[in-house]
Amino acid sequence: MSDSFGIAGNITFEEILKKPSFKDKWNINKNLINVCKDCEFRYVCTDCRAYIENPEESLSKPLKCGYDPYTGEWQEWTFDSSKKSVIEHYSLFDWRNNPLR
Ligand code: SF4
Repeated sequence: MSDSFGIAGNITFEEILKKPSFKDKWNINKNLINVCKDCEFRYVCTDCRAYIENPEESLSKPLKCGYDPYTGEWQEWTFDSSKKSVIEHYSLFDWRNNPLR
């Protein structure tokens, strides 16, 4: 994740736990996440806040989900060209050497 709460050895866990920003994501659930809140799988689906479709929006859908609950269709998320810039943002792949389509 992009957040940093200190360097191991220079800060205690107690100090980290006292940081409000450390707890920012603790109460996020699928009923709050964009798109997921409309998905029939929201109560059985795991979640990942480390990689999200819009890094600027904390309640954005997980990047690595290829399901569209509005059409009921699945597709391999790495083939979705609309995710190309976000995949590059996270440096998940070398787009030039390993194009995903
Ligand atoms: S399947 Fe996808 S859209 Fe549905 S809850 Fe899981 S991450 Fe969200």
